[in-house]
Amino acid sequence: MPELPEVETVKNELSPYIIGHCISGITLLWEGIVKEPSVEEFCSCLIGQRITDIARRGKYLIFSLSNDESLIVHLKMTGSLIVGRDLSEEPRFTRAIIQLDNGIHIFFRDPRKFGALRLVNDSSRIVGKLGPEPLEADFTPQVLAQRLAKRKAPMKALLCEQNFIAGIGSMYADEALFATGIHPMRSAENLSDEEIERLHRAIREILWAAIENKGASVNTYFRPDGTKGTAHCDFKVAHRGGELCVVCGAPVERIVVRSRGSYFCPRCQPEKP
Ligand SMILES: [Zn+2]
Repeated sequence: MPELPEVETVKNELSPYIIGHCISGITLLWEGIVKEPSVEEFCSCLIGQRITDIARRGKYLIFSLSNDESLIVHLKMTGSLIVGRDLSEEPRFTRAIIQLDNGIHIFFRDPRKFGALRLVNDSSRIVGKLGPEPLEADFTPQVLAQRLAKRKAPMKALLCEQNFIAGIGSMYADEALFATGIHPMRSAENLSDEEIERLHRAIREILWAAIENKGASVNTYFRPDGTKGTAHCDFKVAHRGGELCVVCGAPVERIVVRSRGSYFCPRCQPEKP
């Protein structure tokens, strides 16, 4: 879950509350959420730092700090960052609380405890190997074609690989493949130039639309104000197993591709085109 549009929404909606403000306190309700450095060092280094910027790279949020270190947040499967004015607003499953000098509390809510906090000197050590950002201008159809060339992996698996393209996960991969009529098991090396061009366009259109709809709340994703996004209302196949395809009326099927549940229309996305 949270993929590029969800993490981008968190970044956009969190930033007015946090930029320019100092971290005045950290409360860890589950210490395992801190991956590096030690819990003691994490807390003592973070307190007193001013947040100078917030950026997204792939599914990571990067908080730039006044001492030039970066706080890197990964929401993983079930994480949300929820803004509150005081501790009485603490949501259930809160694992960490960051307090700011403007009275804002950021609650890291994470029912399944896969989320991660890291404090690092150099963020490129964590995000440096990620693939291109699909919404940046330099992600062209040619770049996509070059990266797909000679790749034998199923398209579904490749689109979800963060070192191939950053930020896409299972939901938006399913939607992009449906929009282009590509079966999730098809091998990348068999795509035509025209299919690659359509896939490139679909990826960008689907991600932009999902950002406009503030992300998809299929399971446990919430916006920083605690409300849900509506991007999932536009899903054609993702999480719609058994429903009828909006294009042809065939039932949407679910298969597992390299351990990822994958939804597709068997008629619109034939295995052998
Ligand atoms: Zn169909």
